[in-house]
Amino acid sequence: MKIKSKLPNIGTTIFTTMSALAREHNAINLSQGFPDYDCSPKLKEAATHYINTGYNQYAPMAGTIQLRERVAEIISLSYGSNYDPDSEITITAGATQAIYTAIAAFIHKGDEVIVFEPAYDCYVPAIEVHGGIAVYSQLKANDFSINWEDVRKKITQKTKAILINSPHNPSGTTITAKDILELEKIISGSNILVISDEVYEHMVFDGETHNSVAKSKILKQQSILISSFGKTIHTTGWKIGYVAAPKEIMNEFRKIHQFLVFVVNHPLQLAIADFLADKTNYTELKKFYQAKRDLFLKLTASSRFVPLKTSGTYFQLMSYKNLSDESDTELAIRLTVEKKLATIPLSVFYSEKTDNKLLRFCFAKKDETLEKAAEIICNI
Ligand code: PMP
Ligand code: GLN
Repeated sequence: MKIKSKLPNIGTTIFTTMSALAREHNAINLSQGFPDYDCSPKLKEAATHYINTGYNQYAPMAGTIQLRERVAEIISLSYGSNYDPDSEITITAGATQAIYTAIAAFIHKGDEVIVFEPAYDCYVPAIEVHGGIAVYSQLKANDFSINWEDVRKKITQKTKAILINSPHNPSGTTITAKDILELEKIISGSNILVISDEVYEHMVFDGETHNSVAKSKILKQQSILISSFGKTIHTTGWKIGYVAAPKEIMNEFRKIHQFLVFVVNHPLQLAIADFLADKTNYTELKKFYQAKRDLFLKLTASSRFVPLKTSGTYFQLMSYKNLSDESDTELAIRLTVEKKLATIPLSVFYSEKTDNKLLRFCFAKKDETLEKAAEIICNI
């Protein structure tokens, strides 16, 4: 049979590839972003409770009302912004499905979407599969901030959406209140939709607050806010996330959502809703991850790698310019095979595979894992 691929240039994701290589070589895995510790026992008790008490059939299409109400509460408490749980919040199978669904719902053939590079890997394939065109704007090389002049130049009649991600994977940087103002100026009075990937919303450090699109009255009207519980409650394997958007936008989103997944895992939604009634389960996350970041930086301070500033996420970028001329991919593979430490080369997040000699390290790991990893790093 002859297959005409819709994504002829796409292979297996780097996260799958590096995690497999780490397993094969018994390497410490700081590549793919996931914790090596378990979620809370209370959350597991709640999950088994709902499985054991009969919540094993379809949930309502938009998600259980308990979890939608909880999401509305979290957004209201975190950003002072109100979304109607009935018509403006939908529970998804993680952020990946939410992003794909948002793109499927709004991007027509020939529409342009502004994407910032380096970019998380699921954005562009979703755009292209729907006949859209990714228009790249490079984040500034020194600090990964947005070049708004460049963005303005790239807006055309065909621009349908701008995809933003803060806190940003892979750089660990965050957008500022000034960025929000710039974005407001660009989209107000236009038909441009903002697709805002905020999966690391509760992980911002050093006293900063997260600049969600929900905080801006102007942006909120034209934005789809996307997040994932996987990051917030250490359950990347549960694949549950959420979307918040004004009613008219949400109507269109749900038209696709109902035929893509229809509904999401029922008992786990109820468990998450219960668990997040305790606000400290998300408000304390920044402290937890800031301590991990600081420990990782302290443990690797004497190494020849140079850390970049991380103000959010659970990723730390390190420059190896002082160390090697190898390409980042060659080095990441060699470190996994020879030194037993897996990382992610940054070039994979660029369409042109731009190599700035940077590796991404995930610090969502037990302190003892970070200690073992740091020992290797300091000996390179
Ligand atoms: N966006 C970003 C920036 C991510 O890092 C991830 C996953 N780590 C996702 C989306 C996907 O989240 P999920 O696992 O909930 O699909
Ligand atoms: N988002 C995670 C990362 O950046 C990985 C998720 C995945 O494997 N798709 O490492």
